[in-house]
Amino acid sequence: MTQMTNAEAAAVLDRYGRLMELAGENAFRVRAFVRAAETVRDLDRPFGDLARSGNLRRVSGIGPAIAAALTELASTGEYLALRTLEADVPATLLDVVAVPGLGAKTASRLFHELGIADLDALTRAADAGHIRALAGLGAKTEERILAGIAALARRSGRHRLGLLLPAGRRLVATIGSVLPPNTSVALAGSVRRMEETGADLDLVVGVADTQSATRAIEEMPEVARSTVLGMGTLRLRMQSGLDADVFVVRQDAFGTALVRATGPEAHLDLLGDPLPVAPDETAVYAALGMAWIPPELRQGRDEVALARAGTLPRLVTVADIRGEFHSHTTWSDGAGSVAEMAAAARAAGYDFLGISDHTRGLGVANGLDAGRLAAQRTEIASVNPGPVRIFAGAEVEVARDGRLDFDDPTLAALDVVIASLHVGLRQPRSQLTERLISVLENPHVDIVAHPSGRLIERREGGDFAWDRVFASAAHAGTALEINADPARLDLNGDLARQALAAGCLLTINGDAHHPSFAQIEYGVATARRAGASAEQILNCWSVDQVSAWLADRGGSGR
Ligand SMILES: [Zn+2]
Ligand SMILES: [Zn+2]
Repeated sequence: MTQMTNAEAAAVLDRYGRLMELAGENAFRVRAFVRAAETVRDLDRPFGDLARSGNLRRVSGIGPAIAAALTELASTGEYLALRTLEADVPATLLDVVAVPGLGAKTASRLFHELGIADLDALTRAADAGHIRALAGLGAKTEERILAGIAALARRSGRHRLGLLLPAGRRLVATIGSVLPPNTSVALAGSVRRMEETGADLDLVVGVADTQSATRAIEEMPEVARSTVLGMGTLRLRMQSGLDADVFVVRQDAFGTALVRATGPEAHLDLLGDPLPVAPDETAVYAALGMAWIPPELRQGRDEVALARAGTLPRLVTVADIRGEFHSHTTWSDGAGSVAEMAAAARAAGYDFLGISDHTRGLGVANGLDAGRLAAQRTEIASVNPGPVRIFAGAEVEVARDGRLDFDDPTLAALDVVIASLHVGLRQPRSQLTERLISVLENPHVDIVAHPSGRLIERREGGDFAWDRVFASAAHAGTALEINADPARLDLNGDLARQALAAGCLLTINGDAHHPSFAQIEYGVATARRAGASAEQILNCWSVDQVSAWLADRGGSGR
């Protein structure tokens, strides 16, 4: 029997938890299994080793029931309780629960009242208008279910960049550590292009002795299984459950292999066939008569024409970022105090930081009202003046009717006002667009955060008329955010590109809820995919330029 991977064991625990939920089991037990699944998925060594050495219970979140399940999985490769449960609850119901916007409660009702046990039945019932007939569900729910089914079909088997990039970097380091010191190892594929999701990892290894390198890679303990796909091409199934395609080539062809493995197909088509053989990418592109093209721009658009003409944009880099505007503290749902956030900003080399806690309308624990906002300003004043200029701000909630959470005098007293739509994102296009435009044109609003409201792999963004939104933002001079949270990346690269073409100013913010600004990298990558250069990004300006811009827009602009 091949040893089960951590990801496979995690999938069993997760499935068991979710089926228990559908069976109406105790919510604590359900959550314990679902959480333990995540713990097992992230373990840094095989769960089977822990089971055999009797150390499972030392892992936090693994209680006796879960330890027993894992021990059974490690020794038999099966969990009998899951079999029993599957006999009671149709497993296809799990597909129904996975539809965005449909929880276990509704799925359970649909099963018991309409006999809907799988996605096909759900689609048919929604199409036929049977769901709206159920008390408390209605036509809106039905629409949302249909949209959710469509969204689900588009996104199966994808992982977020926020998971793939760190995993890819770890794998690069691990492979480097088992190969001779003069080896080249690089990430390629969608992750190197910084696409928001990807199916797997791609790596290129340039080495003198490809055969022994291939063997050394296959024998790494992090590898659960490996398959040879062709000459020098390995498909690895990692213990983490991720797949990685590794292309092992001789050093003198490393550049060529890296261009090819980075792709995408549409870019390679523009380059033509065959690619010149060269040890590094710059030499490959030079032999083709053009400048090296940053991976984020390799999209099969106009990048090859621009590279030939020598007119590629000078893309923004993380080093260009001089501060952020959108961050949270313990005053709302953040984990750090104002002083801790300021210290982290200083450690990140920032010149300024906007503190923008949630307002009360969002209903998060601790949302600010005008009174607490004033109290927070006193605390901010005690941190200013310091090495990092703190801008007093707020992430002001936009209600369903377009009203902001604070009145004009309160907004006018802030240094920076960020407006966010967190609710009512399913409004029809015209209503949603008008609502956002009224916010963009409000003279007190400086920035609109995560404009589409999408959550990658979880929730589609609002249905905005983007051309009208961008025209309005450009006209009002309101900055649009690229939210750098890898769960959001909002605006995405395509929309940010359109916004720039319409003349909009952009700002990249990590939306930090902890004293760390490491996420900014994902937002910068998204801006690079949009072809943005530093001048087009508000947070690449100097603190004096930013202060002047804010003051000019009617903030208190100290
Ligand atoms: Zn927000
Ligand atoms: Zn926020």
